[in-house]
Amino acid sequence: MGTIEGKVAFITGAGSGIGRGAAVRLAREGADIAIADIDLEGANETAELVREIGQKAHVVSMNAASQRQVDDAVASSAAALGRFDIAVANAGIARAGSILDLQLKDWQDQVDINLTGVFLTAQAAARKMVELKNGGRIVCMASLAAENTGAMSWAYSATKAGVRIMVRGWAQELGPHGITVNAIGPGIIETPLASMLAGREDGEIRKQVDERTPVGRVGQPSDIAGLIAFLCGPDASFMTGSYLIMDGGLRDARAGGMPDPTDPRAVEAMELIQQEGQRRQRLQPLIDER
Ligand code: NAD
Repeated sequence: MGTIEGKVAFITGAGSGIGRGAAVRLAREGADIAIADIDLEGANETAELVREIGQKAHVVSMNAASQRQVDDAVASSAAALGRFDIAVANAGIARAGSILDLQLKDWQDQVDINLTGVFLTAQAAARKMVELKNGGRIVCMASLAAENTGAMSWAYSATKAGVRIMVRGWAQELGPHGITVNAIGPGIIETPLASMLAGREDGEIRKQVDERTPVGRVGQPSDIAGLIAFLCGPDASFMTGSYLIMDGGLRDARAGGMPDPTDPRAVEAMELIQQEGQRRQRLQPLIDER
C-alpha cells in the first residue's frame, strides 16, 4: 500500500526529467497521474510508464503560460480521473544570457512559464481543491538558483526566487482549506534542461560535478521525486510554505569555474548546448501558441 493510494496527482512538465520522475514515483505510491506537458510525445511516454505500474494516466497537452489551457487541463484531469488531490507545478525552461545580450523574448518566455506558469497552475489547482473540499498538496518547482546565481543565469534565478517567495503567501491563504504549498530547490539534476551542467555520464563535465558535489554524484530525477512524494504524503501534513533544497551539498561547495575553451569539458558543453538547442527549436513554436 503506497503513501498516497487512491489520490490523483496533476503534474506539469511531466513529459521529461523531474516531472516524469515525479509521475513514476507518485504512481508507485498509488496515485493516478495527470500528465500535462507542451510536448505530447514525452507526455505519452510518461503515460506508458505510469500504466506499466498499474495506475491510470491522463495525458493533456498544455502550455503552462496560458491561463485558458491550464484551467482546461485541470478541469479535464479532474473529470477524467475523478478526483484532484495533488498538483506539482514543475514545467520550466532555462534561457541563459548576459545583461548585455539577453533578448526580451527569452526573458519573457522564462517569466511566462517559470513564474506566471507556476502561479496559473497553483491557482487553477487550488480553486479545484477548494471546490472539492478534500484538502490537497501543491508542490512548486523552484531551484537552488533561487538563492545562488551568477553571470548568464540571473534571469532564470529571478523566476525561481519568485516561486520560492510566492509559496509562502499561498501557504497562509490555503492552510485553512487543508491545502499545503511548498517549493523545492533542486541542485544539478541529470535532465535535458541541465544537460550542459550535468554533462555526459562518462564525460569530463560529469567528473568535475561529481568531484565538486559533497555527496559525490550528480542528482537524478528520482531523488527529487522522492522529496515530492514526501511532501504529498502523510508525513508532511505539518509542512507548508517551506522551500526545501536537495542538492547533494552543492550550495556550499567550492566554485567550479569556467573551463578554458580548449578544455574537453568546454567542447562537451558546446555539444550539449547544441543538442538542447535542437529540442528548443522543436518546442518554441508550441510555446509561442497561447
Ligand atoms: P526538462 O526539460 O527535462 O523537463 C521540463 C518539461 O517541461 C519538459 O517535458 C517540457 O516539454 C515541459 N515544458 C516546457 N515548457 C512548457 C510549457 N510552457 N508548458 C508545459 N510544459 C512545458 O527539465 P527538468 O530539469 O526536469 O526541469 C523541471 C523543473 O525543474 C523546471 O522548472 C526546472 O527549472 C527545475 N529545475 C531543474 C533543475 C535541474 O538541474 N534539472 C534544477 C533546479 C530546478
